[in-house]
Amino acid sequence: MKKEVVIGLEVHIQLMTNAKMFCHCSTDYIGKEPNTNTCPVCLGLPGSLPVLNKKVLEFATRTALALNCKINQISKFHRKNYFYPDLPKAYQISQYDLPLGVNGYMEISLPESEEKRKIGITRVHIEEDAGKLIHEGDINSSSYSLIDYNRCGIPLAEIVTEPDFCSPEEARIFLVKLRSIVQHLGVCDGNMEEGSLRCDANVSVRDAKSGALGTKAEIKNMNSFKAVKKALQFEVNRQKKLLNEGEKVIQETRHWDESENITISMRSKEEAHDYRYFPEPDLLPLQVDLKMIEEIRKSLPELPEARKERFIKDYQIPEYDVEILTSSKALGDYYEKASSLYANTKILSNWIMGELIRYLNEKKIEIEDSPISPDNLVEMLKLIDKGVISGKMAKGVFEKMFKTGKGASQIVKESGITQITDKGELFEVIDKVINENPKSIDDFNEGKEKALNYLVGQVMRYTKGRAKPDFVFEAIKQRIKKI
Ligand SMILES: [Zn+2]
Repeated sequence: MKKEVVIGLEVHIQLMTNAKMFCHCSTDYIGKEPNTNTCPVCLGLPGSLPVLNKKVLEFATRTALALNCKINQISKFHRKNYFYPDLPKAYQISQYDLPLGVNGYMEISLPESEEKRKIGITRVHIEEDAGKLIHEGDINSSSYSLIDYNRCGIPLAEIVTEPDFCSPEEARIFLVKLRSIVQHLGVCDGNMEEGSLRCDANVSVRDAKSGALGTKAEIKNMNSFKAVKKALQFEVNRQKKLLNEGEKVIQETRHWDESENITISMRSKEEAHDYRYFPEPDLLPLQVDLKMIEEIRKSLPELPEARKERFIKDYQIPEYDVEILTSSKALGDYYEKASSLYANTKILSNWIMGELIRYLNEKKIEIEDSPISPDNLVEMLKLIDKGVISGKMAKGVFEKMFKTGKGASQIVKESGITQITDKGELFEVIDKVINENPKSIDDFNEGKEKALNYLVGQVMRYTKGRAKPDFVFEAIKQRIKKI
């Protein structure tokens, strides 16, 4: 029986406001002493009252508008009740039946098709984050957990999609684009590893013929784009196997175990009624008037889709390149800066997408912290253009630039790795190689052109790669003819 994959995503983004959602505490908590960014409000002490940070509303509205949502002029806060040590109030202030934004969509481009796919956005709502549990000690004997409330009350926007994804790859492409959008909006830094962009997924498999939806499992704890794809693929395969063997899929929450590459059952999936949602009595309904919505709409910056089109038009580079270069705001900024200094935009994109991204990924460095600045990269490309170094030598120079953060000219000067431009010096080496290899000369004279490649190789070896191979090739040819 043919099976279809149905995936929906729930994405939490941390909104980059200075203060928390309902109090004045700072949101700058990474690396801070635990429990220092707290106050009676975010610790949920009795008698404290929440006051909404207006920036949270503005940032969430920007996000919802960029995702083509309708903004509800009146939306409400609800209490989502559950007990867990990282949630001191024993409820989370969230939104329930009247969220801020509804009925939006985002278009994604799939690599193998010309057509764009429209992914429905069910809702965008705002809620506060919980604290963080840190588990210490040996799990069997002396284990204990510490609680850090610094994250408690950090504002989040939750973006819920329709179950419109037909494959794990589509979900991954959506997430990459969503991250780029929220970065361009300036509402979230999109750092998945640090948890400022978190993704849960609902996965089910259905019979293609009847179309009846299958039972879904919710997958949590995927903290990279790669993990999302791997986890969803594992889950799809697991469910297909169960169904093929005549077994049932259980509705549950499953945890992605990155080290084992499997999803593990955590608990049976809770339903909305388990949370006893009820209206938050300490906060009035949220009002966003039309004027504010229009002001925010007008202030939206250029988003990745528009930037993509501009890149194709202005820089005349292939769509494949543009897709990668606009996949994060900082990468797009890097490319634009470099392009303003260097005319050959395709060569630039080759170096950025090839060497630069490879080194950054290897060292797990973000483009914002790249040891090679756009100016440095361009300086190196100009040295190639002037013939000071060859394209091949440039790779070594690039590696040194990346490791030391030094400029290209400085590295070339310090290591003396310029190309040999002095012809006298070069001919000395060429003559030496010709004299040492009479057999190759004979071979060439008998019509074996390939024999020359060996001689060129020898010259490159003696000069430690500092000669221009095409020049050497021609020079040897001329020399032999004269012999
Ligand atoms: Zn606080």
